Formats: sequence, structure tokens, C-alpha cells
Amino acid sequence: RVMPGQAPALLFYSEEMNQRAKEHLRIESELRQALANKELLLYYQPKVSLRSGRVVGAEALLRWRHPVRGLVSPGVFIPVAEETGLILDLGNWVLEEACRQIAAWRDANLMMPPIAVNLSARQFDNQLPQRVADVMARHQVPPEQLMLEMTESLLVRGADNVIAIMNKLVAMGLSLALDDFGTGYSSLAYLKKFPISTLKIDRAFVIGLPFEENDCAIARAIVTMAKQLRQEIVAEGVETIEQMSFLRELGCDQLQGYLFSQPIPAADFERMLGEGKRLAVTGRQSTLAL
Ligand code: C2E
Ligand code: MG
Ligand code: MG
Ligand code: MG
Repeated sequence: RVMPGQAPALLFYSEEMNQRAKEHLRIESELRQALANKELLLYYQPKVSLRSGRVVGAEALLRWRHPVRGLVSPGVFIPVAEETGLILDLGNWVLEEACRQIAAWRDANLMMPPIAVNLSARQFDNQLPQRVADVMARHQVPPEQLMLEMTESLLVRGADNVIAIMNKLVAMGLSLALDDFGTGYSSLAYLKKFPISTLKIDRAFVIGLPFEENDCAIARAIVTMAKQLRQEIVAEGVETIEQMSFLRELGCDQLQGYLFSQPIPAADFERMLGEGKRLAVTGRQSTLAL
């Protein structure tokens, strides 16, 4: 199948590209169906305080229950949705579903912590504050119950506009978190320009704690800076007690990671809070208390 004069390596590469394009198209059309067929759901991953060990929040994370392939991770379909623009419909669904769940918990007289929803940069247009306000009003969700997470990629496009939109959201009483901090291209200078109350240190810098000197230095620098800016600091992807102890000693406020819990279905999260599950956060020799 190698044509005369054509490098096999190049042909191989283009076939691989072709495969990827096909896969992409398949995911796109199946994802459209998924929305209509109610194959999407939200999981919730607790955030725990490094002072009290208590659950003080949760992040809503999108899951796709595919009829054949089972639970598909957002790492697979979010990039496709971003590229095709389908992320706008997905994003609206996520906001709606999170607010519906918050309202359901409230109606059941359950005291639940604030829930954070991820926003894609593509959702950031001038209509966003009104869209969010409409959904919140429909479910009578107070702004203290909802947080919005966004990544640094947002900050590099159309800065003025983005700041204005963020300010509107903050004026509505919502708090904003900067997700995956340290992985994007934005600089520290951005940080003080944006009305962000929480900084989430990316898992990439947590992995090496406390043994990798570079990761320790980066984590320490991020925490120190965030403290100066009076921002809350959440460490993502914390899996070990050693990582937790190090972060706690740095003065990091909250932890989110498998050490405490993976993302779980709403009913499991509800049960976890009902049972008062806590993380033991005392000193270096701390152990996980259930
Ligand atoms: P993210 O917003 O940074 O979410 C944190 C991710 O880290 C989640 O992956 C979570 O399961 C994972 N994680 C948390 N703790 C640990 C840990 O201790 N170890 C490891 N290995 N992983 C951990 P998930 O759920 O697969 O989501 C991946 C990304 O997909 C999210 O990263 C977010 O960027 C995107 N995403 C998920 N749901 C939505 C959504 O509703 N809207 C948008 N726009 N993006 C979403
Ligand atoms: Mg997030
Ligand atoms: Mg993150
Ligand atoms: Mg991440």
C-alpha cells in the first residue's frame, strides 16, 4: 500500500491521523446522542479542610455512562466537546444538573457544602452571568452553594472581557477558583488581576511531594504567593499521607484526592456526609481515619 516515492513513515502517520479523526467523529456523534439519551451524570469529589479534616466542598465531575463502553472519562470526551463546540450544551447541562442536585439536597433538609462546577473557556461569553443567574433562580440555589472552576487557558484570551465577566459572577455572590494552577502559560502577574478566591495546585506538582525537591519548591512558592494574595489553596490529586502532611505544613487549606475519596455518585457523597467521614490531619504521622 506504499505508493512509489512516498515514505512509509509518512503514510503510517497519516493513517494514524485518519484513525484519530474517525474516532473523534464517532465520539462527537455519540456524545450528541448521550445528551439526548441521558447518559451523562455527575460524580462528586470531596474537598477536605487540612485544619479540621472535615468535608468543606466538592467538585462536580462529568461522567458518561456509555451503553457499550461503560463509564467514559472526561479526559476522552471533553477535548472533543471543546473542539466541536458541543461543550456549550454539555456545560449548560452540567450547570443545570448541579443546581438541580443542590436544590434536591436542600429540599431533603440535608446540609451540604458548596459544589464546584468546571467551566470551559468557551463558555465564557457575555451571556454567561445571565445564564448562570437563570439556572440558579430556577432552582433557587443561593450563590454560597455554588463555585465555578476555570483554568488558566481562559486568562490568556481577551483579558478585559474575561475580567468583566468574572466580576459580574463575583458580584452575584459566586466564588471563583483557578483550576490546574501552574500548568498553563499564565504568569503570576495574572493572579492579582482576576477576582479569584481559590487556587487549585495541579496534581502535577503534588505527585513528587515530599521527595522531589523541585516539586516541593514549586508547591511552597505557590502556597506562599496565594497566601499573600489572600486566596484559599486547594491541592489536587493528593494520594498519600506524606503529600498531605507536607501540604498541611506549608499552610495549604484544602485537599482533594484519592487519599480521602475518589469522585463518587451523589448518593454516596450524601451518605459520606451523613456518616461524618473525616480525614485525620494531625502532624506527620497522621493516619486516615474513617
Ligand atoms: P479537573 O477539573 O482538574 O478535575 C480533577 C481531576 O483529577 C478529576 O479527573 C479527578 O478524578 C482527578 N483526581 C482527583 N484526585 C485524584 C488523585 O488523587 N489521583 C488521580 N490520579 N486523579 C485524581 P476527571 O474526573 O477524569 O476529570 C478530568 C478533567 O475533565 C477535569 O480536570 C476537567 O478539566 C474536565 N472536566 C470534568 N468534568 C467537567 C465538566 O463538567 N466541564 C468541563 N468543562 N470540564 C470537565
Ligand atoms: Mg476542576
Ligand atoms: Mg484541576
Ligand atoms: Mg487537572
